Amino acid sequence: MPEGDALHRAARRLQVLVGQQVEVETPHPRAAVKQLAPRLDGRRLESVEAIGKNLLLRFEGGYVLRSHLRMKGRWRVFRSGSQIFGVPWLVLRGKEHVGAMFNGAVLELDRGIARRLGPDILADPPNVDAMQARLRGEQQDRAVGDALLDQGLVAGIGNLWKAEALWRARVSPWRPLRDVSDEELGEALREANRLMRGRLDGVPGHAQVYRRKGRPCPRCNTPIRSWPQGDGARMAYWCPECQRGEEPKTA
Ligand SMILES: [Zn+2]
Repeated sequence: MPEGDALHRAARRLQVLVGQQVEVETPHPRAAVKQLAPRLDGRRLESVEAIGKNLLLRFEGGYVLRSHLRMKGRWRVFRSGSQIFGVPWLVLRGKEHVGAMFNGAVLELDRGIARRLGPDILADPPNVDAMQARLRGEQQDRAVGDALLDQGLVAGIGNLWKAEALWRARVSPWRPLRDVSDEELGEALREANRLMRGRLDGVPGHAQVYRRKGRPCPRCNTPIRSWPQGDGARMAYWCPECQRGEEPKTA
């Protein structure tokens, strides 16, 4: 079947992005409203496979994005820096390649997974009390930066937003939850919500600490540090001056 062939070819081409942290964009307005980019941006693409008429893209954190191409939809893979014509539904940017999906597609995050998620950081207004309750029900020796990425505790905070929100709240990602006050935790969550909703609304801005290792902190000029955090070894970024407290165990 042509449709199946097209899907398998697409899955094969997209393998060049597997294993990479990808930047995710949804330029097409009908895709943008699904709020996929804030949930998936900066996550590692773990696999791409064609199953039936669907292409399943698995991202770290348990996210599975289902894309159905219908009649006209298609995936294309470009070299980074190539000009992309038209308005893709979804764009996945890796180091050397860019995958883009065009036309009349179905895109959705797996619902079974959605049921296991914590309160949505993008809710307006966010349910900060419910998020705090989940975080306080967790092992309190867990580092706050690690816990914020646990989708079962708070759904939707990507690695970029974790770094930026904790920097704004002046909380080190390495502090155990028990040493983070409710006030600090609430501020970090509200900052994450504010930043991520701003992004949804098209508010321009750039990262203050994310991927800025060694660069001066915009507040105090201390060089930004980075170190992998948590089971997923995702890179944390913080200012050791503004965000004092625990440091990673770098034995
Ligand atoms: Zn600083």
